[in-house]
Amino acid sequence: NFDVSAPWLNRVIERKPRQFVRAVDDISFSVPMGGCLSLVGESGCGKSTVARLVTGLYRASEGEVRFAPSKNGEPLSAQMIFQDPYASLNPRWRVRNIIAEPLRELKLRNSEAEIMDRVGELLTIVGLAPSDGAKFPHEFSGGQRQRISIARALAGEPEFLVCDEPTSALDVSVQAQILNLMRKLQDEMGLTYLFISHDMSVVRHMSDRIAVMYLGRIVEEADTETLFANPRHPYTQLLLETIPDITHPKRGRSIAASEVPSPLNPPSGCTFHPRCPFADQRCKSERPEMRSFADGSRAACHRIEETVKAINAA
Ligand code: SF4
Ligand code: MG
Repeated sequence: NFDVSAPWLNRVIERKPRQFVRAVDDISFSVPMGGCLSLVGESGCGKSTVARLVTGLYRASEGEVRFAPSKNGEPLSAQMIFQDPYASLNPRWRVRNIIAEPLRELKLRNSEAEIMDRVGELLTIVGLAPSDGAKFPHEFSGGQRQRISIARALAGEPEFLVCDEPTSALDVSVQAQILNLMRKLQDEMGLTYLFISHDMSVVRHMSDRIAVMYLGRIVEEADTETLFANPRHPYTQLLLETIPDITHPKRGRSIAASEVPSPLNPPSGCTFHPRCPFADQRCKSERPEMRSFADGSRAACHRIEETVKAINAA
């Protein structure tokens, strides 16, 4: 496993132009080697902050992030794939130079001819043609551009890919193609994924394990099947209701962004209490600790027995 823990990360601060500040707090998770752990939650929950901390794009301003990669003492070679491939591809570079950059920087090939051979291979691996290397990013569709950014990420020979909403800017049919490509590459190359998404149907398709985040903390973690069959945390139950499902007419409701409290001024006690149908007095004052269960899941809620009973009765 790649173990990532940030036990004292109570001031990981993301500064945005308008002084928007967001924190993640007391985060710890393991990503199974060769598997996929997804962080799921609404926007503003801190999942992208975690992704950027893991890949070193952000530094913790207070506290620390620790990695325990399984290979003895070797530094983690993580690459990041972003939501918007267009913004992350230099528009003035030909695609072959975009993909060649990591090869050159990391000196992974010796000659220019070898570099261009490898670029052609990488384009083929992601379902494009070697001749596409001569084109510019604007000549491609959104899905093709995401294929290009995957090829660039693979050029660095990473063991570990951090994918931040890699398909949420794409049409649903194109999304499925990219997700299938990512799964195929994972199988063939033994890649490990940390996958970030707000979309429960996407994470169900991709993940071995799922960690649900709410306002900077993990509130539940379980293997994918268990999380969907037996969601323990009321917030997980709410997220599952957002999945369109024609066999459950009550499902498919969408969550209004206005319902999410500001991470700047989080509610007391359990930060989910203003939205929680199970909240009682204790929830308003006391922060729930994470509890572990026999099936390998964990969840942070004072009233798990009641929430599980309610969902089973529904
Ligand atoms: Fe709801 Fe209380 Fe559990 Fe928080 S601790 S999720 S408010 S029941
Ligand atoms: Mg995000």
